[in-house]
Amino acid sequence: MNNRIKILCLFFSFIFFFSCKSKNEKYYKHRGQVFGTFYSIIYESNNKDLFDEIQEKFKEYDYSLSNYNKESVVSKINTNESNHTDKYLRYMLKLSKEISKNTDGAFDITVAPLVNAWGFGFKTSEFPDSTAIDSMKTFVGFEKIQLIDSIVKKDDSRVIIDLSAIAKGYACDVIADLLEDHKIDNYMIEIGGEIRCKGKSSKNKNWRIGIDKPFDDKTGLNHGIEAIVKMNSGAMATSGNYRQFYYKDGKKYSHTIDPVSGYPVSHNLLSTTVVANNCATADAYATAFMVMGKDKVINFLKSNKEINALLIYENNEGKLSTYISEGMKNMIQK
Ligand code: ADP
Ligand code: MG
Repeated sequence: MNNRIKILCLFFSFIFFFSCKSKNEKYYKHRGQVFGTFYSIIYESNNKDLFDEIQEKFKEYDYSLSNYNKESVVSKINTNESNHTDKYLRYMLKLSKEISKNTDGAFDITVAPLVNAWGFGFKTSEFPDSTAIDSMKTFVGFEKIQLIDSIVKKDDSRVIIDLSAIAKGYACDVIADLLEDHKIDNYMIEIGGEIRCKGKSSKNKNWRIGIDKPFDDKTGLNHGIEAIVKMNSGAMATSGNYRQFYYKDGKKYSHTIDPVSGYPVSHNLLSTTVVANNCATADAYATAFMVMGKDKVINFLKSNKEINALLIYENNEGKLSTYISEGMKNMIQK
């Protein structure tokens, strides 16, 4: 999220939440701010408002996986105060490793030192040189973390876990599990643009979700809709380099870092929207795909049919083009 929006979020964080029932009296709607972004949760429930339980779940989740919460399970592992995990972190470590392997290391939750070095560099113009990058790469790499029963073992004490590319998606799944526990069959959960849904909307129709056109607009306020996706069950996540980017020597760099090269990604893929059966998976692949670039992603999608994606890229004439995987074509509203 860009800084202006973040500042607004923080300003409103204590006063901004909103809860109501829709015209169809069975549907509850909650909106507000969590994990430095906005959320919206809509669900059908005959007589139970789950607002308080959802807030509790958010707190529990933050206490586990947030890098901003110094007391969280993940923060204590990062500072080497502890090596104990909880159920959320164990699931994240297992799923992240699987996706890192499937994407030849394009997705990597240990990439934070490189992200910070580049992000800092873009603010001060002191970019890391190849020696600095090589030395950071000695403590970057998903294979440098092992989960042994419930204990984390790091190959190097400087290894840091940063789940920002998967945690919003996983939070949608955790809230979905809560709603499922209450036998709720119709819901849509959105956290910072990542979505998990099931069943029908209050209009008794499939859920309809817009995919933004990727404009070069750091404010994020200036956007149009590229496509509308109809879904009744599953998850969708988007990653793009069109809001978080920097220019250096006339070249555009994104906030996504290629963990293998150690450099920010710079290619013609502007955004990736991934559909999968859970939102953690969709979120992680959306980030990985931004690293891999269009051609590698198209090959990947052809042999991994359980993952679908809509890619928006700049073609050779500098125009916006889209690629839609076979399994996603019938989900796009004509
Ligand atoms: P968004 O914040 O736009 O939803 P992502 O889900 O793609 O974006 O997450 C981007 C964040 O993930 C970055 O800000 C950075 O902290 C981290 N990151 C950057 N590159 C990678 C990578 N290759 N693998 C995993 N995490 C990454
Ligand atoms: Mg992501």
